[in-house]
Amino acid sequence: MDFKQFYHYCPHCGSTAFAVSSIKSMKCTDCGFSYYHNASAAVAAFITDKAGRILVCVRAKDPVQGTLDLPGGFVDYDETAEEAIKRELHEELQAEVTEVEYLFSLPNNYLYSGLSIATLDIFFKCKVKNIDLLQAADDVRSFSFIPMEQLNPIDFGLNSIQKAIQKYTKTA
Ligand SMILES: [Zn+2]
Repeated sequence: MDFKQFYHYCPHCGSTAFAVSSIKSMKCTDCGFSYYHNASAAVAAFITDKAGRILVCVRAKDPVQGTLDLPGGFVDYDETAEEAIKRELHEELQAEVTEVEYLFSLPNNYLYSGLSIATLDIFFKCKVKNIDLLQAADDVRSFSFIPMEQLNPIDFGLNSIQKAIQKYTKTA
């Protein structure tokens, strides 16, 4: 659900006079507090093995649990996007990242706890040390390497990841 339908009270003073003031903001007419629901930054990675196959994960958690995904996640406070992808790849795959190359970014909507979160997903091409030693952990149930021509965007549960797969397989 969009935050403008989801939030009923001013988070500062609790007033119900908390009204939509733009597509991404709400304002309390009692205390004057303005809330902006800006896009959150997220990162995802393309990792290829020696044969050029793409590393693809199965999501262990909702949203869209059980669908395919690229490894990645949200950028933390005070973190660069490059640091975020290195941290996420370590958390999810025990990977030690040796190279991070920016590819492109795509906007997305991520439904979490019933609330639609606007994100800006930032895609990287990453190289990792000892690719044979990767292990699925955290919100990755399992992973496998799939030849690029066998990747099917509709198997991926998140919209921006579907688009990224299309974009990547066209240009790679
Ligand atoms: Zn208020």
